[in-house]
Amino acid sequence: MTELSWDARTRRETDPEIRELQEKINYDFDFEAVVNAVFALLEKKTPFREYRLSVVGRDLKKRPLIPSAPAPKKGKARSCPLLSFPLALTNDEIRYTLDVYTFESPQFGRAEAGFFDECRKLLLQAVNKDYHERDHLTGLYNRQGVSPRLERALERAKEGNAPLAVLIFDLDHFKEVNDTYGHPVGDLVLQDFGGLLADVFGGPLVGRWGGEEFIVVLPGADLDRARAAAEDARGKTEKVKVWVDKSAGKFVSPKCSVGVALFPDHGADAETLIHFADLALYEAKKAGRNRVEVYPLDAPDVRLTKLKETVDAGVVKPLRDLENECVVQSLRERGLVPELPLALALSDPRFVVLDGSTNTVKVYDASARKFTVEFGGRGEAVHELEGPVDVAAAKDGRVFVVDSPAHAVKVFDGAGKSLGFIGGRDADGAPIFGYVKGTFNEPVAASLDGEGRLLVVERMNRRVQRFTPAGEFDGLEVPLDAADVAPPYQPDPRDVAADGDGNIYVLDAGNSVIQKFDGDGAFVKTIGGPGPAGDAGRFKGVTSLAVDRYGKLAGRLKAVGVAAPEVVVTAEAGDVNRLQFFDADGTYLGLVDFARLTDKLGRSVRPGRLAVSAMGAIFLVDQENADVLQLSFAGEGY
Ligand code: GH3
Ligand code: MG
Ligand code: MG
Repeated sequence: MTELSWDARTRRETDPEIRELQEKINYDFDFEAVVNAVFALLEKKTPFREYRLSVVGRDLKKRPLIPSAPAPKKGKARSCPLLSFPLALTNDEIRYTLDVYTFESPQFGRAEAGFFDECRKLLLQAVNKDYHERDHLTGLYNRQGVSPRLERALERAKEGNAPLAVLIFDLDHFKEVNDTYGHPVGDLVLQDFGGLLADVFGGPLVGRWGGEEFIVVLPGADLDRARAAAEDARGKTEKVKVWVDKSAGKFVSPKCSVGVALFPDHGADAETLIHFADLALYEAKKAGRNRVEVYPLDAPDVRLTKLKETVDAGVVKPLRDLENECVVQSLRERGLVPELPLALALSDPRFVVLDGSTNTVKVYDASARKFTVEFGGRGEAVHELEGPVDVAAAKDGRVFVVDSPAHAVKVFDGAGKSLGFIGGRDADGAPIFGYVKGTFNEPVAASLDGEGRLLVVERMNRRVQRFTPAGEFDGLEVPLDAADVAPPYQPDPRDVAADGDGNIYVLDAGNSVIQKFDGDGAFVKTIGGPGPAGDAGRFKGVTSLAVDRYGKLAGRLKAVGVAAPEVVVTAEAGDVNRLQFFDADGTYLGLVDFARLTDKLGRSVRPGRLAVSAMGAIFLVDQENADVLQLSFAGEGY
C-alpha cells in the first residue's frame, strides 16, 4: 500500500516529456533523436541556450557530436562554452560532455535546476548506450552504430523519394605507415583522417567501417553530388599532415581510395549499396588508388539487383490465372510417349521426343498418325547417344540432339541417319571441348531460331553460340558473364530459345532469371527474377523456357483476354509447379498453376522441358508422370 502511493507520486512528479524520452531510450533508441529532444526540452524549460554534446577522444581532444540549432546570436563568437557538464560512463570514464554556450536570463531556480538534472540523467543514459556504438579511436560510429543509421537514412530517402549515396573510404597502402612508423603513428593517421571526414561531411553520417575503412552516408546526394563530395574529401586527405617528428619536419600524408554506390540507382537496401560501394572501391584500388570510383550503373549485377527489386516492389501486373482457360491432354494416353520422356521438339507435322530410358529419339508423324523413325541408342559412337538432354527439330527433318557428356550436338537426318556432330573435333574426328569457339563444354540445351540457325547454350562455358543451318559456327558467341562482372553474378544457364525477330532468350535457372539478347548478341534485358514465395512474375525452381516464335500462342491467349504480340513461356517445378507467360518485353501476362488443376486432372504435374507448336499449343514434359502434356487455349486440342 505504501509502495503503491510512492509509485503513484513519482509518476505524477515526472515530467511526461521526460518519461516519453525515457521510454524511447529503453525501447526505441536513436541517439541523435534523443539528444535533440533533450536539447529542445532544455530550451523550453531552462534559461540555458545553445547546447552541444561533445565526445572526448583518447587524445583528450573534444569533438563536437551534436549541436543544438544555433540560437540567433549577435556579436561575439561562441568558441568556448559557458558551462561544460561531464557525462561519465558507467565505468567512470568521461567520454562525453554537455556544453552550454549561452544563458538567457540569470534566473535559475530550484525547479529549473531539477529539470536540468533530469535532462542530464537522460543524456547520461543515452551516452552510455551510444558508447557501444562508437569507435573509441576516432570517436566516429563503429559498424554497429552505422548500420541502423544507414537503414533509417534509407527509409527516409525512400519515403521522401530522394537519392542517397554510400561512400566507402579506404586508406591507400596504410600497412606501410604502420610498418614504417609504427602503430601509434598509424593510429594518429586514422584519427586525423576520421576527423577530416567528420569535418568535410559535417551533418551526414560518418563512421569507421573497420580497420582503415570508413563509411559516409550522404542523404540527398545523387551521382554528381556524391562524386564531387568524395573527390573533395579525397583531395583534402592528400593535404593532411600527420607529424611523425615535427622538429625534423617529418610527416605522413595519407591518401585514400573511394567507392561510391547510390540509392536508388544501385539498389534499395543497405547491404546491396555497401556491396556495390565495396566493388567500386576495389575498382579504385585496381585502377591505381587515390581515386574515386562509382560502380557502373549498367553492370549486369546491378541490373539483376534492380530487376529483383522491381519484382519485389510489385511493379508486375497482378496475377492472372489461366488454369480455367486451357485444355490439358495427356499424350501418354494417346500412346505417343516413350518410357521416360526427357525432351521434345516440334516441327510440324512431326513431334520429336527423347527417351531417357534408352537414349533414343522417336519421331511421330501427325499426318501419318504413327512413329516413323527411331534412332540413337546408348553408346559413344557418333550415331549413338551418351547422355542426351535436349533435342531441336529443323523444318527439313533434321534432328539435333544435345549430348552433354559427349560435349557435342549430334545431327541426324529425317530418316534417322547420323550426319555427324556439331562441336570441335580432333584429328581423329572425336569431339574436343574447352573454351574454344565452335566447341562445347557440357552443352545443356539447343534451339533453332526463325532462320533455322542452331543456338546452343553450355553450362560450363556459360555462353550461347550460334551455328548456320549447315551446322557451321556462325561467329556469334554470347558470353553470359562478361569478364568484367564481379561476383556474385554466376550464370547457371539451362535453356535457350529464340523469338521471331532473332532475339535470344537464355534461361539462367540458378539465378531465376531470363537474359534476353538481340540477334547480334547485345544484351537487351532481364526477365523474371527470383521469388522466394514463387509469386507471379518471379521464378522458383525454373526448369525451362520456350518462345512462341510464330505468334500463334499469342493469338490463342488473345482470345482468352491476354494481349501480347509474342509470348515467352517458362516452366517451374518443385515447390511451385506451373507455367508462366511473359511478353517479349518481359511483362508478366499470367500463369497456369498445376496445383490448382490437380483435382481436374486427377494428378499432380511437375513440368520439365517445353515447346510451343506452330499452332500455338504448348507441349511439356511432365516429370511426375513420365508424360508429355499438351496445353491448348481457345480451342480443343488443335
Ligand atoms: P590498400 O591500398 O590496398 O588498401 O593497402 P593497405 O595497406 O591499406 O591495405 P591492407 O588491408 O593490406 O592493410 C590495412 C592495414 O590497416 C592492416 C592493419 O594492420 C591496419 N590497421 C587496421 N586497423 C588498425 C588500427 O586500428 N590501427 C592501426 N595503426 N592500424 C590498423
Ligand atoms: Mg587500405
Ligand atoms: Mg582495407
